[in-house]
Amino acid sequence: MGVSESALIVLGALEHLSLDRDRDRMQVAMLRILADLCGAEEITLHCRSDERMLPMLVATKDCEPQPVDPEGPWPVAEENLAGAVAALSAASRLTDSVMVDPRIVAHALVDARGLAGVVTLRYADASTRRPWWISTFLKVYQNHINLITDAECDMLTGLFNRKTFEARIHHILAMQRESSDQPDHASTRRGPSRPDHHHWLAVIDIDHFKRINDHFGHLYGDEVLILLARLMMRGFRMEDRLFRFGGEEFVIVLSPCNSAGAAAVLERFRASIERYDFPRVGRVTASIGYTRIRGEVMPSVAVGRADAALYFAKRNGRNRVCNFEVLAAAGHLQEAVTPEAEVTLF
Ligand code: GH3
Ligand code: MG
Ligand code: MG
Repeated sequence: MGVSESALIVLGALEHLSLDRDRDRMQVAMLRILADLCGAEEITLHCRSDERMLPMLVATKDCEPQPVDPEGPWPVAEENLAGAVAALSAASRLTDSVMVDPRIVAHALVDARGLAGVVTLRYADASTRRPWWISTFLKVYQNHINLITDAECDMLTGLFNRKTFEARIHHILAMQRESSDQPDHASTRRGPSRPDHHHWLAVIDIDHFKRINDHFGHLYGDEVLILLARLMMRGFRMEDRLFRFGGEEFVIVLSPCNSAGAAAVLERFRASIERYDFPRVGRVTASIGYTRIRGEVMPSVAVGRADAALYFAKRNGRNRVCNFEVLAAAGHLQEAVTPEAEVTLF
């Protein structure tokens, strides 16, 4: 039996894809391959975020994959996508693709929790020939993504783990440096787009968590951690990165925004925890310290600053959000001049 030319091209594309370990790059590469080889005029990757399926990246044959603004018009109308999501969720193992309309096919991306994403392919007309290999290609892609996710994520909450933080933060700092090296602070793909926009790093620590464990037991303590992670997923944008550092400590890397925006989003999150009625446990609060991420400082220095602001919050009543730069300017905290090796994390 001979191997067709298209099979060889697809195998080559899969080999290329499986060499990577970076989820963002793999998403772009997957869309690029489909845009080049499958004959569709527009391909969109949608990802599950909390309970919603949101468009993330869209590619066409002539255009590199671009981020989609979920607030703007969606490449596939929201109600049509919702229909496809319902059909794919219900069909689970029986089928991995459904027709959205005569020109659009939706393919399922499945992980251990169920439908993790949907790739839609819009063809120029209903009669365009659809390659046989798309479903298999996407399954191999998703299997690889699932293996990476297992290594990157915390088992209890599903958030990124601390090891992933170390890898990501170096990447973000490198982008910051790249962006500030440009004469007018012009936008890089994911770097700040305006001079007053920066990445921010926040450390969150649940208040008196030990008491929750002592009063209600570890299982209820664990449930608080899971529910708090869910509040995080709901409360932040898709581009913001959420990590569980260990125990009841979480880290958020906010994608570029100005200082008022960072303060507002963190305060809103603090308030959402305070308002939430945790089963049996009732009210829980958390303290938050945060700092601006600067390209020139080491990640451990940024974590040390956010941590210093967090412990100021702990010493001053808990259940509050404190900014390192504001506290340093007011003389409450020292601008860290500590060499990296001397900064302890938590
Ligand atoms: P503070 O307000 O000062 O932060 O007080 P705290 O009690 O939250 O702080 P402390 O660091 O003393 O306690 C953290 C507790 O978190 C201690 C440990 O038993 C508990 N813990 C750590 N990891 C886990 C976990 O995975 N599950 C549960 N249920 N508890 C955990
Ligand atoms: Mg702690
Ligand atoms: Mg605590």
